[in-house]
Amino acid sequence: MSSKRSGKLFVISASSGTGKTTLANELKKENRNLVQSISYTTRTPRPNEENGKDYFFVSKKEFFEMKQKHGFLEYANVFGKYYGTPRKEVENHIKHGRDVLLLIDVQGAKQVKKSKPDAVFIFLAPPSREELLRRLNKRGTETKKEIQARYKIATKEMRELNDLSLCDYRIVNRFIPVATEVLRGILRAERL
Ligand code: 5GP
Repeated sequence: MSSKRSGKLFVISASSGTGKTTLANELKKENRNLVQSISYTTRTPRPNEENGKDYFFVSKKEFFEMKQKHGFLEYANVFGKYYGTPRKEVENHIKHGRDVLLLIDVQGAKQVKKSKPDAVFIFLAPPSREELLRRLNKRGTETKKEIQARYKIATKEMRELNDLSLCDYRIVNRFIPVATEVLRGILRAERL
């Protein structure tokens, strides 16, 4: 393929606990031309997380300074913390022909839809509410109260995305290998 090809933007929207990180890691392993955008967040890092790799962990002041300078392609308040996609990095990757993966929440996806309507919008849904709750509990990184908040938001997002007006594809993540294969197929088809 010619080096003049622009990259494509893939927005994967999923609630907490749907397995999006696992899926994205699988795809990145096999696609050297696919990069994941690293978001900025005001939440504190989890024990296994690295600054600049999982997120850029910043203060609220730094986040709002960046927002003021139109530094975010989209941003949202999720569970009381701010998360934003850096505009410059994404546009730079696309300009250089790299495909970009955004793993963001539904509020963020709605904003990207407005500014980048050509992006491919994929919604990853958990198989059921019960399974979602089980996965959130199993992760063990949040308190009971945080799990309840995430569960509540996730079920609201699932309802919102039922009408499919936002997303081009909807994948139910029942089994990781199957969902990965579906996602792989979507990426391949959309790149043609
Ligand atoms: P977590 O704190 O578990 O890493 O992420 C919480 C939620 O924030 C997840 O639903 C995740 O997709 C979302 N999120 C992560 N980065 C961004 C971002 O840059 N923008 C938006 N809108 N949501 C994000």
